[in-house]
Amino acid sequence: MSKNPPLKGSESGINLSLQSKIEENITKLHIPSEICLLAVSKRKPVEMIQAAYNIGVRHFGENYVQDALPKIQNLSEYNDIIWHYIGHIQSNKVSDIVSHFNVIESVDRKKIVRKIEKECQKLEKKMPILIEINIGKEDQKSGITPKDLRGFLTFCQDFSHIQVQGLMCIPPYDEDPIPYFKQMQTLFQELKGEFKLTVLSMGMSSDYKDAIMHGSTEVRIGTSIFGARD
Ligand SMILES: *Cc1c(COP(=O)(O)O)cnc(C)c1O
Repeated sequence: MSKNPPLKGSESGINLSLQSKIEENITKLHIPSEICLLAVSKRKPVEMIQAAYNIGVRHFGENYVQDALPKIQNLSEYNDIIWHYIGHIQSNKVSDIVSHFNVIESVDRKKIVRKIEKECQKLEKKMPILIEINIGKEDQKSGITPKDLRGFLTFCQDFSHIQVQGLMCIPPYDEDPIPYFKQMQTLFQELKGEFKLTVLSMGMSSDYKDAIMHGSTEVRIGTSIFGARD
């Protein structure tokens, strides 16, 4: 949450009832002030992002490059928004992601690290990234497994345009997330000193409270703020 004075809804021409609904939804979450709230706006319109912005949200998460770019361009005046890319990264989209996003959370393979470095070099930009952990060791999911993590973090240290800030995960769907949050907390504690990690991104609408209890520093919440997606 930012301490900037919010714009009045009427000044920005946005729908006040939408704004108060989103405000009510965010208040109900009771996110502690030291936790970063990343509002996941994928498949939601610009008006909803503006409404959340007006009540102080500055971090927004998007999963689909094609869907996000028009919104990011549309909101370019809001230059203190921090855009987080949280979706699967296709190699041919890295250039767009690097140009338009401020943080990349879903880095899951060496090829993508090399590509981000190359694109950042062109733009003379240093990119904060998180490493996506396949904490459930699910075959269909990408991400670095816990046993490969130290090697992967060491690999990332060689790239001068990349700063690894921390770890992110999505626990297996339809299972109790708590054992996975505990494993993530342990991994993070083990490695954060050595690799200067500060961000542990875990917890979504259904499980963010448990995630915070297990050391999450950033929750990624969509549905409970903006409503169900079509
Ligand atoms: C969609 C999504 C979220 C938000 O999920 P909700 O259940 O709507 O809160 C969080 N993280 C990632 C990576 C997502 O894709």
